[in-house]
Amino acid sequence: MKKVDLLLSNALIVTQDEKRSILPESSIVISGNRIVAIGPSNQIDAQFAAEKTIDLRGKIVFPGLINTHDHLFQVATKGLGEDMAVQDWVTVVTAPTAAQQTPEDIYTVCLTGCLELIHSGVTSVIDMNYMAYTFGLHDENIHALVDSGLRSIYTSIISDYGLQYGIPDYLMRPTDWFIDQYEQLIAKYPPTDRLAVWVAIGAPWTVSGEGLDKALAFSKRTGTPMVMHIGENWVDNHCSLDRFGMNSVPYLEKIGFLRPELLAIHCVTLDDEDIELFRKYNVKVSYNPVSNMYLGNGIPQMMKMQAVGLRIGLGVDGAGSNNSQDMIETMKVAALLQKVAAKNASVVNAQQILDWATLGGAKILGLEDQIGSLEVGKQADLFVIAANSAKVVPIHDPVATLVYSCGQENVEMTIANGVILMQDKVIQHLDEPEILRKCQEMSLALADRCGSNSKVKRSWKGNQA
Ligand SMILES: [Zn+2]
Repeated sequence: MKKVDLLLSNALIVTQDEKRSILPESSIVISGNRIVAIGPSNQIDAQFAAEKTIDLRGKIVFPGLINTHDHLFQVATKGLGEDMAVQDWVTVVTAPTAAQQTPEDIYTVCLTGCLELIHSGVTSVIDMNYMAYTFGLHDENIHALVDSGLRSIYTSIISDYGLQYGIPDYLMRPTDWFIDQYEQLIAKYPPTDRLAVWVAIGAPWTVSGEGLDKALAFSKRTGTPMVMHIGENWVDNHCSLDRFGMNSVPYLEKIGFLRPELLAIHCVTLDDEDIELFRKYNVKVSYNPVSNMYLGNGIPQMMKMQAVGLRIGLGVDGAGSNNSQDMIETMKVAALLQKVAAKNASVVNAQQILDWATLGGAKILGLEDQIGSLEVGKQADLFVIAANSAKVVPIHDPVATLVYSCGQENVEMTIANGVILMQDKVIQHLDEPEILRKCQEMSLALADRCGSNSKVKRSWKGNQA
């Protein structure tokens, strides 16, 4: 018998392979971080001597979900920014929070966000910090990502322009300063399939012409992919028109930014011509439906983008524009929002949503040969739901159950890179209650310090001004 580390037995397995095979009463065999066998439990279990065997009878296994956009530091702002106009939300809540966080704050707050991601079946995340005014903020944000056990991309926004558009000066530095930070980051954290640093720009009009050239040159020279909010709301085209005399997407084409190495976040305002440009240059897209609704930004034309073959992933976005980090909820909202936009329930189905959340995200990470489906040879990134609660019973189609019926309370186990991060809903490698206690304490102190609670009038904390 072959020795292996982990045998997950008797599960219903949603593989997300080429044929979208769903395997009843089957096992996944894991050695190190790799899947070494998948098949009927009564045929393959006897071939392996596993260090640990877990019986998943009555449970469903899915590939790990891939969260393609987040600002984990914003976990500190849950409950502060809802019902605010976008400009207030930036200047009162998220920007001061970014500027006032200490390295200790950012570690605990980001780790708390990662805990919720793990609870909602996520195994990979692309995180975007706003402003790391000391290198320690980069380090502690990255340490949180590493300690969480999630497969991670870290980015931090470059901005040297945009006072007239409401970008606070304390979020700006000369572009050379940011490029130097990035040089240090990629030297200290060279890319692996567990952690990589990418380059981030908040929006094209928040960087000077010279800065944009330098950021693009850095990205090309070092082979570092780039992330940018594009067309998040009306403000984007308004500022682009004002500054460049044209909308964001044609301007980005003009200056050479549209390319397969660009991940565009939101894309709410993209029209048919913009989508055609994205197709021409094979730009990747992150769809963040809860955030688009929370901030009242609008509805991106995801089905048109899908129809022209763009690579699309889902994102929860920062907790500042969501109030949670729940990827299961995001899947349902992703579907419902497109149905409302089209006034047609058939415009998108649960399988498409799961494809975006798994295979689509894997393509965005450039790891489609490693993750995104449960197949022999791929890395063991997966999660397990219990199918025995009133919320999900009866199950006719496990994919529909996941997307439309499940909540994160149904997620029992999450495994990333072959490591069990959560079992029986208990985080295995971190002291969750202690992290939550610290996050609560630090976030209240931070909100006091930076005044981001100025519009909150609630009696329970004695801040009834
Ligand atoms: Zn964002």
